[in-house]
Amino acid sequence: MNTVLKTVILGAPGSGKGTISSRIIKAFNMDYISSGDRLRQHIKEKTPIGLEASKYIKDGKLVPDDLMIKFISEELKKVKSKPWLLDGFPRTLFQAQAFWKEEKLDLAVNLVVPFSVIMERVEGRMVHLQSGRVYNSSFNIPKVPGVDDVTGEPLIKREDDKPEVVKKRLEVYDKMTRPVIEFYREKGILKDFHGETSDAISPQVLKELSNYMRLEGSQ
Ligand code: ATP
Ligand code: MG
Repeated sequence: MNTVLKTVILGAPGSGKGTISSRIIKAFNMDYISSGDRLRQHIKEKTPIGLEASKYIKDGKLVPDDLMIKFISEELKKVKSKPWLLDGFPRTLFQAQAFWKEEKLDLAVNLVVPFSVIMERVEGRMVHLQSGRVYNSSFNIPKVPGVDDVTGEPLIKREDDKPEVVKKRLEVYDKMTRPVIEFYREKGILKDFHGETSDAISPQVLKELSNYMRLEGSQ
């Protein structure tokens, strides 16, 4: 076992990766990198990466592999001393293979949520851009409507959460990201977690991770 736990979280758009990740990093001292959150920050700040990425994101398409691989390795250089959790990367088999040459992961958490639940969920979703905190109009409701509980800053509706774009993202997920799941299954590091709500899934994930943390602590 490595001294630094290297983890990715996988699952369809709206499967609860952001919500469950925030519970993970609250429970364990881990660094969190969400490719989507970081790209949205770049878009907001109109950086060259942001301008390039937004061309794809607004239509529910994937950002090109070479750009993503470079972007994520740069982001990871900043966090190497702590266990980390990566959300939203890798998204294609090519990304997964390229990344594996750089980093041997310890665990891939795979969230398995029915598609009918996902469509409904994404429609009511609001996010806090700076932290990536996710709220929903029918569950996980913010204390004050439209406002982040922690900072009091406004919540936004993601451009790509419109129903027609969500449909496209789910198609892309099926075609491009399923092979990533199989890649990690073959490496023997994939763990599936089934459920209809993040409340049902996150205790299972936390329990699994605590086993890894204990293993690490004993090295
Ligand atoms: P959710 O946040 O609901 O889990 P998601 O996984 O589709 O959904 P993000 O991870 O926030 O959403 O990503 C938003 C968009 O950013 C993607 O649709 C894609 O265009 C782009 N993107 C993010 N990560 C990658 C990646 N690894 N490769 C290519 N494009 C990416
Ligand atoms: Mg996300």
